[in-house]
Amino acid sequence: MTPGDTSKKQHTEVQGAGLKDDLYWMSLALEEAGQCGLDVPVGSVVIRNGELLARGRNRREIDCDPSGHAEVIALRQAAQATSSWRLTGTTIYTTLEPCPMCAEAIIQSRVSRLVFGAYDVASGACGSAFNLFVPGRIFPIPEVIGGVCEEDCRNLLVEFFRSRPGADGGEAR
Ligand SMILES: [Zn+2]
Repeated sequence: MTPGDTSKKQHTEVQGAGLKDDLYWMSLALEEAGQCGLDVPVGSVVIRNGELLARGRNRREIDCDPSGHAEVIALRQAAQATSSWRLTGTTIYTTLEPCPMCAEAIIQSRVSRLVFGAYDVASGACGSAFNLFVPGRIFPIPEVIGGVCEEDCRNLLVEFFRSRPGADGGEAR
């Protein structure tokens, strides 16, 4: 950016404010992830217009639920909180790149924006292992932003798998 170039400066400031919000909401998702206990530490929150609608954390072990991923739980709670499965205008923050199940649930529920932390080469459906967010589908595809608080999100997972080798049938990723 060159001095005096106000248009670029303005754009940068808007991005800066947006990033500050993203960091705040991701810190709440990280709080959820940090409370997973025996479950792989992944947390999610759903917001709309700066208001928290739902929080979720991975509960597969504790609930014996194969679909008990943080995103699905947060989406379900957000739908209940708003009495509508249509979550247009919401942003979901999640500490790990969503798997195909969660990615499709995010698309199906019409979430407008997805922000995730760590990339997941094993199951990530935002481009790492698959990409469900391709243009040309009937439904609007959410805006996707990856790598927010990436290191903190990944460190939680690395520490989890280090203390529980073989958990989830995989290794730290
Ligand atoms: Zn998932």
